[in-house]
Amino acid sequence: MVPLPGKIGSELLKGEYRDIYPSDGVRPAEPEVSGGARAARPETAGSVRTMDEAMTPVPKTEKEWRERLAPEEYAVLRRGATEQPWSGDYVSTDTVGVYRCRACGAELFRSAEKFESHCGWPSFHDPADTDAVTLHEDRALGMIRTEVRCARCDSHLGHVFHGEGYPTPTDDRYCINSVALTLEAYD
Ligand SMILES: [Zn+2]
Repeated sequence: MVPLPGKIGSELLKGEYRDIYPSDGVRPAEPEVSGGARAARPETAGSVRTMDEAMTPVPKTEKEWRERLAPEEYAVLRRGATEQPWSGDYVSTDTVGVYRCRACGAELFRSAEKFESHCGWPSFHDPADTDAVTLHEDRALGMIRTEVRCARCDSHLGHVFHGEGYPTPTDDRYCINSVALTLEAYD
């Protein structure tokens, strides 16, 4: 099924927000799915790596999150909403570079892992670093899915699906919201 193109709308985001987190936005406790990293990768004190330079301190309060993120970013990253298919900046881009978490700057995926899934969201067959994301069982919307979150800041990124038959090395499809990502192009 190929959904019609559309823009992120506050109505949609509010609607999905209610659907996913009916108890007024409180993220329910969810068991972790095996295979996910258990903790954020360790910080490297004093490192001069550009990866660290790109990362920003993780906010500690909802107020700080709201100040950092645009409303549509907040809805997806912090409230688990989903952007409209085909609406994101990175659905079809093939720019070579690194995809970082838009909330905290951590490296999540590389362009070499991106593939054309025709699903309307950027799709990757593997995280750039297996510790970069964590996986969580998601029973929202009457389905059992595997949610993908940033390991560093625990922000919602999207979902991962396995065994769909895509010709990729892992047969995984990390279906990620564009608005959860920032593409850093290589020179
Ligand atoms: Zn993050």
